[in-house]
Amino acid sequence: MRLLLIEDDRMIGDGLRQALRLEGHAVDWVYDAQAAAATLASERFDGVLLDVGLPKGSGLDVLRGLRARGDATPVIVITARDALEDRVAGLDAGADDYLVKPFELEELNARLRAVMRRHTGRAAPQLEHEGVTLDPATRQVTLDGQPVLLSAREFALLEALMQRPGAMLSRAQLEDRLYGWGEEVESNAVTVYIHQLRKKLGADFIQNMRGVGYFLGKRTR
Ligand code: CA
Repeated sequence: MRLLLIEDDRMIGDGLRQALRLEGHAVDWVYDAQAAAATLASERFDGVLLDVGLPKGSGLDVLRGLRARGDATPVIVITARDALEDRVAGLDAGADDYLVKPFELEELNARLRAVMRRHTGRAAPQLEHEGVTLDPATRQVTLDGQPVLLSAREFALLEALMQRPGAMLSRAQLEDRLYGWGEEVESNAVTVYIHQLRKKLGADFIQNMRGVGYFLGKRTR
């Protein structure tokens, strides 16, 4: 997933970003409400982690601005311990869920998965297409019931495609899934990872429309 982290505490933010990157997410990080509003107005994310107490404005106003534009990007609000008012205000301002500091990374990951599930209208935790299953929680992928080993970046690309079967994703959208700001984008990375995925899942599983993008196809079995 491509995530925006909005957090002014450098220690917490740094730890979160590192941990989320290890999970295979592309993470962009801004430190204040102004930068958050500007970034959300110009770029698309799969999910947002929003600290409520921010410099240069309020996290809740950032959230209200997002929802006022009709933007339904999933948002998890991060609040201080015992701040009941913040939690209630966050949900009322349009947050999909909240976490109270300090929290375990495992819980954050589980909540991210649940929020994404609701956002994409899925009831089942697993993604499935043409005999390929992907479990975002265990990060296991199977092909006709047999486990398939994927690298973190192969997994991230496959997850992006399987979250919206039928949708066409451009190379730029897929690159966004692989890299956060400040990370060097290897020019042929998407081509290389798609090639690896096709080798592992069958040549027809991921189709390409030249110059437009990639989408899931039917497997010849
Ligand atoms: Ca803060």
